Amino acid sequence: MSQEKPCRACTDFRTWARRQKETYDTEQKTQKKKEETPVTSARDDCPLDKDELGSKTWAFLHTMAAYYPDRPTAKQKTDMKNFFYIFSNFYPCTICAEDMQEQLKHSPPETGSQETLSQWLCRIHNKVNKKLGKPEFDCKLVNQRWRDGWLDGSCD
Ligand SMILES: Cc1cc2nc3c(=O)[nH]c(=O)nc-3n(C[C@H](O)[C@H](O)[C@H](O)COP(=O)(O)OP(=O)(O)OC[C@H]3O[C@@H](n4cnc5c(N)ncnc54)[C@H](O)[C@@H]3O)c2cc1C
Repeated sequence: MSQEKPCRACTDFRTWARRQKETYDTEQKTQKKKEETPVTSARDDCPLDKDELGSKTWAFLHTMAAYYPDRPTAKQKTDMKNFFYIFSNFYPCTICAEDMQEQLKHSPPETGSQETLSQWLCRIHNKVNKKLGKPEFDCKLVNQRWRDGWLDGSCD
């Protein structure tokens, strides 16, 4: 819709007054909308916050587990186990890292195969989901979510 300034000299007073009011109302609505819009970063290349980092990190971890070998060598098993311990020492969100370290004490990485690793990670993630009041993920679906795509073909 065109929002030209009403021209008093171009219209009769009633029309001019009506158009003045329309312009005023539109400006008020625009201002209100601006105030209601949550402040988000105008750019998409800013440093990550906890939640952005979290979802990107989970995507990486689950995808890594999804492509882990079905029959890993002894070295791959050890390396993957060490990876999670080292990861938990350097993860940049402190409360998340501490939570992960605590979880690793009770539930060490199960690196025997792709299946065991993916299921273990799914359970670890679900513990965090539970703590945050988020719904738990159905671990039977973990390979569809992170490796094969959904059975209905919606990812193909
Ligand atoms: C190791 C780690 C520890 C964290 N600890 C904390 C913490 O202590 N406190 C805190 O506030 N935040 C923590 N976070 C961040 C938090 O888990 C979320 O990443 C963040 O809140 C954003 O959530 P989200 O809704 O985008 O979905 P996310 O939880 O990031 O999940 C991303 C996607 O993974 C899939 N998914 C969800 N659950 C599972 C599962 N169990 N198995 C497989 N796939 C799944 C879903 O499709 C979901 O959309 C942690 C993140 C990581 C990586």
